[in-house]
Amino acid sequence: MPPSSPFALLPRVDRVVAHDALSEARARLGAALVTRLARETIDAARRDLRAEDGGVCPTEDQVAAATACAAAAWLGLRARRVVNATGILLHTNLGRAPLAPAAVAALADTAGAYVSLELDLATGKRGRRGAFAERALAEMSGAQDALVVNNGAAAILLVASACFGGRDVIVSRGEVVEIGGGFRISEIIARSGARLVEVGSTNRTHASDYARALESCTAPAAILRVHQANFRQVGFVGRPSITELSDLARASGALLVDDQGSGARGDLADLGLAGEPLARAALDAGADAVTFSTDKLLGGPQGGVIVGRTSLVSLARRDPLARALRLGRLALVALEATLEGWLSRGESAIPVLSRARLGEAVQRSRALRWRTELEAAGIDCEIVATRGEMGGGSQPGEGIASAALRLASRAPHDLAARLRACDPAVLVRIEDGAILVDALAIAEAEERELVVALLAVLVGDRVG
Ligand SMILES: *Cc1c(COP(=O)(O)O)cnc(C)c1O
Repeated sequence: MPPSSPFALLPRVDRVVAHDALSEARARLGAALVTRLARETIDAARRDLRAEDGGVCPTEDQVAAATACAAAAWLGLRARRVVNATGILLHTNLGRAPLAPAAVAALADTAGAYVSLELDLATGKRGRRGAFAERALAEMSGAQDALVVNNGAAAILLVASACFGGRDVIVSRGEVVEIGGGFRISEIIARSGARLVEVGSTNRTHASDYARALESCTAPAAILRVHQANFRQVGFVGRPSITELSDLARASGALLVDDQGSGARGDLADLGLAGEPLARAALDAGADAVTFSTDKLLGGPQGGVIVGRTSLVSLARRDPLARALRLGRLALVALEATLEGWLSRGESAIPVLSRARLGEAVQRSRALRWRTELEAAGIDCEIVATRGEMGGGSQPGEGIASAALRLASRAPHDLAARLRACDPAVLVRIEDGAILVDALAIAEAEERELVVALLAVLVGDRVG
């Protein structure tokens, strides 16, 4: 093989960029970026040709196809809509709570326009960002004041930075936890400048453990209680009540802060969520502040909340970090609409909670309708009773009764990948080598898209 000829045959960049296979990539990413991807593909081909054993020079079509793949991979990184057939209602990787229709409408109305974010329209003067949300949250939890920030982790960081003043914070060893996404209570406290004092043991911490720590610390700032999100301890376990801790904290001039996480608003025992703490209950029992997220059981967009005593909340509000951790305007608009829904209609305004309460019989009848359509196309499947989950850090318990389509497949992972490639993507769970399409988290408006995706992939599956 003559040494220079294969390189001379490499396709030209401009011809590759103009190739029909790249028309969608050009339209969506722009010619400049597609040119760079084409150049990278050609460079890679040149390196292959230089390698010891030479190789075959790729054609223009081949280089264009490889460039189209690279462009598709890039575009695939975009957050796309997903039909959630996993049976997990608050799936953190899927953005937790889908918004209520009123929140979606509020976004549609304001997102492309200006909003009175920090302007009081009654006076025409500067107003406070989040004033309605904070008043509503204080009202709903019986707190003196509330502050809204970017997420639950930010709420804890801000309380620790603003209110613990670099002093000692006492936490039970059973609660020095990692909540997910690398978020660790110990690291947040360290970053705030406070000093973590661990007490008790992993499974049991007594009031006397806290009392001893409060006595031996020279400057105890607070007791921090952290809800055991994402896991459950059973058996020989125990920890003091909020009332006991609040008495101890008060006696030594320390604060009591309860990180609840989920933002539950009512009794969810019938959904197997008996252990979810309520902000109002903790404040009534003597906690000085409670922190939680707005995109878990509250059903809103990403956000975090501090509710509690005015003195503590206003310290947090005045802290320089508050500006860095503030909630964005899109999330704030959606949160305020969600809170108005809670005030006017309660739980029924919240999609994840309505879905959780549909019950197994209704879920089964929906799954039956889907099965009828699949069977008409010659696809066999069965309906099974399942236990879905609330997710999002609520305690894993006995689960929520639901129903699912069960699709036997020789290659379930391959099938799941093809469902993920649909538009919208469909995310299923795989159990015992079969695909489960759980009805629990699927909205009525998504049923058509779900069936269309299943038909497209499964009919293809039989042919292929
Ligand atoms: C979810 C959770 C957090 C973190 O909240 P984000 O909104 O995800 O930042 C903190 N603490 C507890 C107990 C939680 O459940």
